[in-house]
Amino acid sequence: MSANRRFRFVTRIGPVQVGTSYDGRGREKHTAACTAPRCGFSADYDSRAGAELAARTHRCPVR
Ligand SMILES: [Zn+2]
Repeated sequence: MSANRRFRFVTRIGPVQVGTSYDGRGREKHTAACTAPRCGFSADYDSRAGAELAARTHRCPVR
């Protein structure tokens, strides 16, 4: 998760955080990012539902 993006509506599902940001053209972007130190999982989705689904189904290799 890059630090210069502003995330709103951040929720946490297991070790994964889901946040909504804007790409500069006013479009929403939904990011799921794992908070486990050595995992590194992070992905962007067009929909909040997609990001939350990814968070729920993420199998963290670190845990
Ligand atoms: Zn993970």
